[in-house]
Amino acid sequence: MESTQTKTCSRCKKELSLDNFGLRKGTKDGLRYECKKCRKIEWKKYYQENKKKENNRKKTYRRHNVEKIKIYTKKYYQKNRAKIKTRKEEYKPRKNELKRQKLKNDPIYKLRYNMSKALWKSFKSLGISKNGTFNESVGYSNQELYNHLSQYIGKPCEDCKDVVLTIDTHHIDHIIPISVSKTKDDIIKLNQLDNLRLICPTCNMSKSDKINE
Ligand SMILES: [Zn+2]
Ligand SMILES: [Zn+2]
Repeated sequence: MESTQTKTCSRCKKELSLDNFGLRKGTKDGLRYECKKCRKIEWKKYYQENKKKENNRKKTYRRHNVEKIKIYTKKYYQKNRAKIKTRKEEYKPRKNELKRQKLKNDPIYKLRYNMSKALWKSFKSLGISKNGTFNESVGYSNQELYNHLSQYIGKPCEDCKDVVLTIDTHHIDHIIPISVSKTKDDIIKLNQLDNLRLICPTCNMSKSDKINE
């Protein structure tokens, strides 16, 4: 007859069968006062509130201990260099896969990825070390880059008027070629939006051949 026994939850006041209550030592019937569902809700609330508090605490701590954290991080890295390297290696395939997916599915990411790759390459060719993020260096956002370049998508290539550009078949072209730059300022200037357009891969190839000649 046990299965017909019920108990009223102290919180939601519903009368429920006993299997809706968790065990608890020290109560008269050995069960909790509140039902599993109510406990779950309670836990979730508690967890979220605590998470918020904990995040705020961490944020404040980080703000007040910038130098300390820097030193600690450096020390930790030096001490665990091998471990960190192994972990990085282990994570690499997954990271590459995520990147591949993102390049395929996220046109904004794709354009930014290609642009930043090209920018660091130009920096490197002049012996300039990269300092800050791509967006900080060029001064525009990924969205602004996308907004500017996407006007070329779905239209024929400006040079050959032959190929309709898509997000998958195009090259980002520097109207004034980046190869003329001599300084970091030149590179930044030539990477501004008004010097960027999309052309088809074939035209891009013949253009870079001409420059290299
Ligand atoms: Zn309840
Ligand atoms: Zn073309």
